[in-house]
Amino acid sequence: MTALGPVLRDRGGQWIGWLGSTVCEGLGEDALARLLLQGAQETGYTLQPVDLTEEEVEKYYFGFSNEILWPLFHDLISHCNFDPAYWHIYQSVNAKFAQSIADNTTADADYVWVHDYQLILVADQLKKMGVARRTGFFLHIPFPPLDGFVRLPWRFEILNALLQYDLVGFQTVRDRRNFMDCVRMLVPGTKVVGHGQVIRCHTPSQKVLVGTFPISIDFRQFAETSTTQEVQDLAWIIHANIPERQLILGVDRLDYTKGIPERLLAFANALKRYPDMRRKVTLIQVVVPSREGVPEYESLKQEIEMLVGEINGRFTEVGWTPIHYIYRSLSHTELLAYYRTCEIALVTPLKDGMNLVAKEFCACSVEDNGVLILSEFAGAAAQLYNGALLVNPYHIEGVADAIHEAFCMDKETRQARMKKMRRSIQKNDIFYWVSSFFRAGIDKDLSQLPTAEFFVPKP
Ligand code: UDP
Repeated sequence: MTALGPVLRDRGGQWIGWLGSTVCEGLGEDALARLLLQGAQETGYTLQPVDLTEEEVEKYYFGFSNEILWPLFHDLISHCNFDPAYWHIYQSVNAKFAQSIADNTTADADYVWVHDYQLILVADQLKKMGVARRTGFFLHIPFPPLDGFVRLPWRFEILNALLQYDLVGFQTVRDRRNFMDCVRMLVPGTKVVGHGQVIRCHTPSQKVLVGTFPISIDFRQFAETSTTQEVQDLAWIIHANIPERQLILGVDRLDYTKGIPERLLAFANALKRYPDMRRKVTLIQVVVPSREGVPEYESLKQEIEMLVGEINGRFTEVGWTPIHYIYRSLSHTELLAYYRTCEIALVTPLKDGMNLVAKEFCACSVEDNGVLILSEFAGAAAQLYNGALLVNPYHIEGVADAIHEAFCMDKETRQARMKKMRRSIQKNDIFYWVSSFFRAGIDKDLSQLPTAEFFVPKP
């Protein structure tokens, strides 16, 4: 949700959400109140925390959200654990959020914008409580094809809950098509009216707007910050320490959807089949820790580290280590320095709602020199197809060929491709994304919403 920061800033709205297990740990009520006040002063919007018990975190967050909806919606059904206990807690936690919305908003003044797969039932719960609100929902992750979705034991409940919002938004046309296929199949009598970015879906009991709104980044902020002295100095140091080589960058949260092992195998395959690249490329793979303590993620980490060890063991020569592996989160300056200095970005998720790393890399490629290798299964591919080298992340030799093609690409071609991508991201940035959602939901542009220059958060 960090993507939403620049949009919410200084608008005087409210963010209702779970603070996460680590933020409140050991904090008394007073300390928490102080923390929230400080947060509101810094951001220009109020934070309204929803407290979760340990059992709720386990069954709602790690359980239903991350062991059912996350893998199912990413087409990775073999990772699903359809534990019935998860469903009950998912419902009660969504009801908790709905209660907080009922307590902290009004029907006239507020628009409730619900984000992502953890909160699908909120509008449904509000209606069950008899609370009328204008509601919109945005799904940040993909929506699966009919064949995958129907495996969900609670397919009717989830689909019906999505249809309780006034507006439902997806990242891509493909996601919206998948959703509409499911509605047509599971809700007989559904009619679709209109075409274009937002369509009307009429079921026998509901009228819902359904749209595509590809999320983006604050392009200008990335482009400008990447030219600051601090970022440029660090970018120079990174490259000076790995001289006369093209740097290939991978940046991912530790997650099985990101295709990291497949990518490492593709890189090794490229080194094997294209010996001209040896000593002349280095892969910098950043893995940001995520869902620590979950066994599946622990074993993925081990798999990645074993592969890095094997590949380095096999190809390293005096003065050249093929893979630099970083397992931690980077500071903003570090991240931008890597974006700025690496010649090639390797973004190969098996499936991804959007993938902001791809867009951030382009925004920071201010000399238009970078080459983006992008999975065709990332939502970002729908917008960046005309400049990126698109690959099927499951096709190890295909990705290896793309790495070699990027390595050999001449400057003019790189620049022509990168220019196209940067133009597209600049035009469709995060502010455009919010505006288009609000235009569809409440017929208002971002510029027509109040700003809160004089917003003074209440203690
Ligand atoms: N990111 C970060 N710290 C890091 C590396 C990356 O905060 O050390 C950010 C990055 O800037 C990007 C986000 O993490 O905005 C990853 O978003 P993406 O859509 O690529 O994948 P997600 O992790 O949301 O699945």
